[in-house]
Amino acid sequence: MAQKTHFFRRLSDDFFSLLYPRLCLACGRDLPPYSMSFCIRCKLDLPETDFHLLEENTFTDRFWGRLPLEAGAAMLYFRKHGLTQQLMHNLKYRGKKEVGTELGRLYGHQLAESPFLKGLDVIMAVPLHAKKERWRGFNQSDCFAQGLSESMGIPHWKNALIRTLSTESQTTKSRFERLENMQNAFQINHPKRLRRKHILLVDDVLTTGATLEACALKLLEIPETRVSMATIAIAE
Ligand SMILES: [Zn+2]
Repeated sequence: MAQKTHFFRRLSDDFFSLLYPRLCLACGRDLPPYSMSFCIRCKLDLPETDFHLLEENTFTDRFWGRLPLEAGAAMLYFRKHGLTQQLMHNLKYRGKKEVGTELGRLYGHQLAESPFLKGLDVIMAVPLHAKKERWRGFNQSDCFAQGLSESMGIPHWKNALIRTLSTESQTTKSRFERLENMQNAFQINHPKRLRRKHILLVDDVLTTGATLEACALKLLEIPETRVSMATIAIAE
């Protein structure tokens, strides 16, 4: 009976995909049924950095002299008009959350092999301001964190970090004021729970690193915490 139900479900799925073919969210070509949100060809063409195999890399260099970082890596290079930009656009602005979780699952397998990312206790995403998250409906970095958590077997703590200040409200301020403000833009829920933890802090794209830095400095105020970082992409 179960087999019969499965058969009909598959049949209706196939029929549905005939009517509404799914398209690869990176290149726009037709996707075969039951595939990820991007095609095999795009998966092979992803501009991977392999930073997780290097103790010092372009990612960790960007934080040099700013904070003590255990390890850091980005999955992909972000280039204009490239595959990463397409995927990020679908994730952030078209609500395709599966792009984030699928990339997270893939990257989690790679990070688990990294000799520099050992002994992680918890994964946390850089939070959006509540107003922005309501507007977007989700936090894209949480999707990536969720995927990493699934394939690495490390818990993903949502809402442990809170963003109390939105970047929008900062536009009228001077650069110095903005920097100063950023230091106080984040708060931690139940900081005692994070004591002695090695935290993997996750974001979507690393550019200047100001946001990641502010989050990490907040986390490092908790006694004996250690912070590593991972992002979906790094902008060159
Ligand atoms: Zn494709």
